[in-house]
Amino acid sequence: MSATPAPTPALMHIACPRCGKLRDLPHRDWLSGANCNWCGGELHPLTPFELNTAGYAAQVNHSDGMIVVHFAERNCTPCIFMDAVFEQAARHRRDLRFAICHVEDEAALVTQLRIRNAPTLVCFDRGRELARISGTLSLGQLLDWLDRHQYAGSVVPTSGNDVRHRRS
Ligand SMILES: [Zn+2]
Repeated sequence: MSATPAPTPALMHIACPRCGKLRDLPHRDWLSGANCNWCGGELHPLTPFELNTAGYAAQVNHSDGMIVVHFAERNCTPCIFMDAVFEQAARHRRDLRFAICHVEDEAALVTQLRIRNAPTLVCFDRGRELARISGTLSLGQLLDWLDRHQYAGSVVPTSGNDVRHRRS
């Protein structure tokens, strides 16, 4: 596969993290924090959103932009550690989407995706798996891992400070 990034679409097709409805909106409106016109929820929340089996197709297969999913178990100490790192990464990388899937609630999805242990992080671009990694990472390691894999997807950082350092 070529690692040449496709241009960021000016118009983004994206599912609302709260109600799951798909809509189109300018990429810049998504980055700057637009709300869903169906449910009023945030289309690009500052913290990772909950991903379940029902929302999986819309969020992972049909939405534009790379999504990073943290497959976590609620009472697992390494997962709780990774929750905090993941939340920080979501604040650093506003150009990506971050979601948490609790493995004990989503057995069918876990089987389908062959998630064998938690914590596991998987990057998807329009349903295509780009990378996965299991175990705990520091924030620096996680950001490096994201840098290495995002160019295999369709998301490119827009030219500047507005993305990476906004709200940090
Ligand atoms: Zn909504």
